[in-house]
Amino acid sequence: MFENLSDKLNKAVKTLKGQGRISDINIASTIKEVRRALMDADVNYKVAKDVTDRVREKAIDRKVMIAVEPGQLFVKIIQEELTELMGGQAQSINLKGSPAIVLIAGLQGSGKTTFSGKFANYLKKQGRQILLVACDIYRPAAITQLQVLGEQIGVDVYAEPENKDAVSIAQNAIAHAKSKGKNIVIIDTAGRLAVDEVMMKEVENIKKAVTPSEILFVVDSMTGQDAVNTAKTFNERLDFDGVVLTKLDGDARGGAALSIKNVVNKPIKFISTGEKMEALDVFYPDRMASRILG
Ligand code: GDP
Repeated sequence: MFENLSDKLNKAVKTLKGQGRISDINIASTIKEVRRALMDADVNYKVAKDVTDRVREKAIDRKVMIAVEPGQLFVKIIQEELTELMGGQAQSINLKGSPAIVLIAGLQGSGKTTFSGKFANYLKKQGRQILLVACDIYRPAAITQLQVLGEQIGVDVYAEPENKDAVSIAQNAIAHAKSKGKNIVIIDTAGRLAVDEVMMKEVENIKKAVTPSEILFVVDSMTGQDAVNTAKTFNERLDFDGVVLTKLDGDARGGAALSIKNVVNKPIKFISTGEKMEALDVFYPDRMASRILG
């Protein structure tokens, strides 16, 4: 994950790390390399420039040039800025309501259904009673996929294969959850290959009908800048609460992780790093930043 960015950043700061003293020139050239590394990772120019401008200001403020270990201090400053860029603090999910309703949205293939299973598994381990809901009325295979995952993790799945009204499936599922004493309902919605009006309207209607306490937007990090653009469109329509970045195990660049918070001003809450049900992590911006500069 993020190998390219990691390599380039580490190379950029390496020349500073071993030195007892660093000069203006060292700093300027390192900052330039850091900016280039960010842009190569698919971070847009303005964001990369803002980040590196702040690194430079902090380096001056904290008197990096006369510090005992200037290189280490400089790395720490970059880490702080990357942490801020990715959202600062880890953000929790809102599970208010009885049952609490979580709506999962995103494009087809982004990893929604896999995440729904992982998330249910994660919450189940905390002792909650979960109901997974298959709200994809277009692809029967999506229903089966969720049922298979549900069985694997021991979580009930609600589906109405004959019903072509996603809103009523969601409503019926909530009534069912109440009758079964479930604490949390996770609604896996349909996704299309590209953002389309029918799909957007449908998920908006589900949102209106069930008032979720948490809407999570799932996006494939491998799609780079497209991930950021899709996030923007979904956010305009759904005003979601958090982002789930999937397939980070295959993402060598990291552009989506670094840019999404800045563009949509919504936090990344989870990262998915594989197909297994356990491959899910709460997103900690500071840990990710240290990992990138590790
Ligand atoms: P959906 O159409 O959005 O519901 O997407 P799926 O959950 O069906 O996922 C699409 C494909 O991506 C499946 O083959 C998943 O096994 C795979 N997948 C999902 N999440 C991850 C992940 O974090 N890493 C990897 N490597 N594959 C994933």
